[in-house]
Amino acid sequence: MAKSDRPCRPLPVLALHVFQVCASSIGLCWKARKQYSEKLVPGCVGTQSLHSTLTVSIRHELAGCRLKNSMVPRIDLHIHSEFSPCSRDTNVQDIVSMAEARGLRKIAITDHGVVRRPPWLPNYFSEIERARRSTHIDILTGIEVDIRPDGTLVVDKDILQNLDVVIGALHSLPLWGVVRKKSILEECRAILLKALEVSSFHILAHPTYLPLLWSRKIPLDLADVIVGGLKKRGVAVEMNYNHRDPTPEFLRRCVKAGVTITPSSDAHRLMDIGHFEWFEQQLAQIKEPISWMQI
Ligand SMILES: [Zn+2]
Ligand SMILES: [Zn+2]
Repeated sequence: MAKSDRPCRPLPVLALHVFQVCASSIGLCWKARKQYSEKLVPGCVGTQSLHSTLTVSIRHELAGCRLKNSMVPRIDLHIHSEFSPCSRDTNVQDIVSMAEARGLRKIAITDHGVVRRPPWLPNYFSEIERARRSTHIDILTGIEVDIRPDGTLVVDKDILQNLDVVIGALHSLPLWGVVRKKSILEECRAILLKALEVSSFHILAHPTYLPLLWSRKIPLDLADVIVGGLKKRGVAVEMNYNHRDPTPEFLRRCVKAGVTITPSSDAHRLMDIGHFEWFEQQLAQIKEPISWMQI
């Protein structure tokens, strides 16, 4: 076949082909762009929404943090460890780890002092020293010491003087006193007032808890005189998570009177540490400024 005999593509056909190719490309581009847009636009909206959600979420979190930080200091000055027979699954190292996880900045390990010279103290001090080397948390030494019926503290003064935090606690009542006075309430009031008068301690433990009457709390007609004694002696009141104590009204009267307050877990198990939402709830209805215990 001669060159001139080859089939010839007319120019319009070639132009149409070029147009189809271009149109196809443009179509693909448009389709791809549309698909991209469809993905992107919801994505963009989604991204914006996600961003907004995150922003709102972060705002809320920060607001929550600020609220929590402003309301309750991240300290816990009443935690029991392996040196309290009644505590379970607690040792000093694990307590520190839990306190770190819960965002606490200062804790005191305060085991029960029920004899004049607690035999566990040397090992206790060793454990505290060991724990201090492995954490940024401020770990204070302390004790929850029993108050005797005459208002004195069970543990000897020279020991108490070497501890950062001394918590006075009324855990039992003399039966003879109860029988004689025929009133557990009166007995508690008398012992607490005597303790505030003759003993030296930083914090009164579970202030409206009544030994022998576990389901009852110190009533308000006795509260004011105790609040007065606390204020006079500069003794702080704890908000005790373990006992859910004191009563809201007692707490409110303490705040109103200017008695210093401190949050305490009174933890006997690791899981009791760091329930700051409970402290927040207790303080939610209190409008007066709170004097937090400084230590
Ligand atoms: Zn106690
Ligand atoms: Zn305790």
